[in-house]
Amino acid sequence: MNYETFFRKQIDVLRREGNYRVFADLERQAGHFPCATHHRERGQAPVTVWCSNDYLGMGQHPTVIGAMHEALDRCGAGAGGTRNIAGTNHYHVMLERELADLHGTEAALLFNSGYMSNWASLSTLAARMPGCVVVSDEANHASMIEGVRHSRAEKRIFRHNDPRDLERQLASLDHDQPKLVAFESVYSMDGDIAPIAELCDVADRYGAMTYLDEVHAVGLYGRRGGGVSERDGVAHRLTVIEGTLAKAFGVVGGYIAGSAALCDFVRSYASGFIFTTALPPAVAAGAVASIRHLKVSQMERARHQNRVALLRRRLDAIGVPHYDNPSHIVPVMVGDPVLCKQISDRLLDEFSIYVQPINYPTVPRGTERLRITPSPLHTDGDIEHLVGALGAIWADLSLRRAA
Ligand code: PLP
Repeated sequence: MNYETFFRKQIDVLRREGNYRVFADLERQAGHFPCATHHRERGQAPVTVWCSNDYLGMGQHPTVIGAMHEALDRCGAGAGGTRNIAGTNHYHVMLERELADLHGTEAALLFNSGYMSNWASLSTLAARMPGCVVVSDEANHASMIEGVRHSRAEKRIFRHNDPRDLERQLASLDHDQPKLVAFESVYSMDGDIAPIAELCDVADRYGAMTYLDEVHAVGLYGRRGGGVSERDGVAHRLTVIEGTLAKAFGVVGGYIAGSAALCDFVRSYASGFIFTTALPPAVAAGAVASIRHLKVSQMERARHQNRVALLRRRLDAIGVPHYDNPSHIVPVMVGDPVLCKQISDRLLDEFSIYVQPINYPTVPRGTERLRITPSPLHTDGDIEHLVGALGAIWADLSLRRAA
């Protein structure tokens, strides 16, 4: 086999479909979020970022940066090993306590990313409980799907956010079989929110465990940033709450929160926890600072919601179609991969606005979109500039307007 030819042909397929991914070469500028420097062949240019998952700009918050500097000076760069060997640092211990407190659970367990926390926890739980069946929302994230697949446990899919279909699935299973219901709170591409209480009601009726991914909600919802489960007063009903430190908390890492026995079980059996070097202590210190800040400060959350509402109103005013949802994610629907990339390129080249196109396989074909994520740090002027740019491109390309 000619390997190089094979790789090139596969890439050509993506290019022909319009699904070849190009990443803008950006340099974030601490203290100037959402501004960044775009490195191009013809030199550098400032851009405004409109698609960051650093939802609240905490990645550049002085408290977070200060805590990371301090820990870096105290502990150095790396953790020095896997947690089992030499990598458990006091900052990891503090962070796990902080997370357990955030979700009101007995314990929490850190992973190197949200992806790893889903993959390792779901695969370990489902594989190690004899006869376990995972009942999974059809829109669950790739990390959950891969975790379940890796477990080789039986899997059932229930219709997205549909407690009645969940009930049908659970009712068809053996009463004594261990069952794990896995779903998310905020779905990151459509921005819709799960009916957590109803799903828990159904799970309880059938004696099922519940596993909730709050990756796109922690820091953003609830009085202390505990996510939608905190906001809805149902955190205590979930067996596992999973989250990330990489989005609203602005750093990197993932975790699960649950009972002491469950966290200890995953800690003791999950290869994705055991066999990888722990997060750098400075990262854990930054996450602790970010979580502590967002537990008490309401300012970022309030301003975030205010920016989201303003952007939606302005888009409505000019008829640029966006998917209606109750969260902070504003998907501007395009429905074609080539067009989506073209709009994104024009925003960058002509208006210094960065919004990455979202194409297959991140979303189903035909639902390609620009996923816009306003932050508390986007000004009225930034919003007007974005809306003006979209309006100009929509007019120029004669794109469909919302009624
Ligand atoms: N879960 C969901 C729903 C996600 O959207 C993502 C990533 O975007 C993850 C988990 C993975 O989290 P992380 O980026 O921390 O690896």
